[in-house]
Amino acid sequence: MKVLKFGGTSVGSAQRMKEVAKLITDGEQKIVVLSAMSGTTNTLVEISDYLYKKNPEGANEIINRLEAKYKQHVNELYSTDEYKQKTQEFIKAQFDYIRSYTKDIFTLFEEKVILAQGELISTNMVTNYLQEQGVNAILLPALEFMRTDKNSEPDPVYIKEKLAAQLEIHPDAEIYITQGFICRNAYGEIDNLQRGGSDYTASLIGAAVNASEIQIWTDIDGMHDNDPRIVDKTSPVRHLHFEEAAELAYFGAKILHPTCVQPAKYANIPVRLLNTMEPTAPGTLISNDTEKGKTKAVAAKDNITAIKIKSSRMLLAHGFLRKVFEIFESYQTSIDMICTSEVGVSVSIDNTKHLNEILDDLKKYGTVTVDQDMCIICVVGDLEWENVGFEAKALDAMRDIPVRMISFGGSNYNISFLIREEDKKKALQSLSDHLFNNK
Ligand code: ADP
Ligand code: ASP
Ligand code: MG
Repeated sequence: MKVLKFGGTSVGSAQRMKEVAKLITDGEQKIVVLSAMSGTTNTLVEISDYLYKKNPEGANEIINRLEAKYKQHVNELYSTDEYKQKTQEFIKAQFDYIRSYTKDIFTLFEEKVILAQGELISTNMVTNYLQEQGVNAILLPALEFMRTDKNSEPDPVYIKEKLAAQLEIHPDAEIYITQGFICRNAYGEIDNLQRGGSDYTASLIGAAVNASEIQIWTDIDGMHDNDPRIVDKTSPVRHLHFEEAAELAYFGAKILHPTCVQPAKYANIPVRLLNTMEPTAPGTLISNDTEKGKTKAVAAKDNITAIKIKSSRMLLAHGFLRKVFEIFESYQTSIDMICTSEVGVSVSIDNTKHLNEILDDLKKYGTVTVDQDMCIICVVGDLEWENVGFEAKALDAMRDIPVRMISFGGSNYNISFLIREEDKKKALQSLSDHLFNNK
């Protein structure tokens, strides 16, 4: 069985819901995970903000506006009065429920109940639409099987068992629709898997049912055409290893967050990224397979600051790196790239909030140099150390560009260069020419 996830934009209007319905009715049995209609979760957060601030009028105004929008969606979505009425009643009940929270104390607990409404409504709408179209579609209530434990981590054993029980109630359904994002916590309260968590839901369900594939449908084909940060002139990236996808995620590539695909990666279930606007395109497949020796993509990230700490005391000393790292840790600043020599260490950071304090503290241990407006360029692919030649190719591409740091060997899938931001375009072009176009 396949698991398909459609994000907020893919179900963002009655028209988009109809298109999703068309896409998923091919006779194959499947589980479909849906987000809230785009903008809804943000609006529910806004409503909660008013309630935290004890402004029920402010909240009510937004609630009414959102409800009016949904009324319109319902009118556009269904062709029969029966389904219009049925869905309208459901939506009214949910909004009345939201309103009931404007009268009492408001805490994190109430906020989570409110945030859950977006997915509860979107899945009800799509299930009703499919049923109106005569499709054997069933709504699987995520709150009955999606659960986190005392550490707020999903509980895979519980999920597997309870989901199987839900599926057994309607073994012959063609399409099982369920809510992304929402769950219950260890105390049985309504909770969620954090913003954007519908992808996580899909990955968890995929692992629980041992799916043949998890498809993440979005409105963008961000891996290539739309993303200026990724350069690959020859062809779109068709296939990535989970680790390659994780490397690219740091660069803001519009792919999945690594933690979201963890369950799929462990269960060895391929994840395919597809574009709702171009449904017949093959998309990008992420799996545990590597394409031997192939370089996949080049990505870049701006606004990087490089810091070098040079100390003759570091020579043959131990504990130096720990002291340096502890300074960054104490200012909650994560280090991205790191290069060391016997007498110095260079690191790069992208969060400069505490730069001055960090520099001050580092000066205890050596001479400190800072370079700002730098850029990380990252080459991603099967760069296993025993493969030969790719380092030379990448370095050759950087021949005319001043390189501040080079990092390789941290993973089998990445080689990174730190250069000046102003040289970024030239570097990306040259790497693309050398690595993909064999110039
Ligand atoms: P979806 O989940 O289908 O992407 P959302 O409404 O949740 O839909 O996303 C809102 C917008 O965020 C999308 O239109 C898209 O441009 C952008 N977006 C979606 N996914 C990502 C991503 N992984 N990284 C960055 N931007 C994204
Ligand atoms: N609706 C939730 C959000 O906007 C979850 C999701 O779309 O993945 O964050
Ligand atoms: Mg989303």
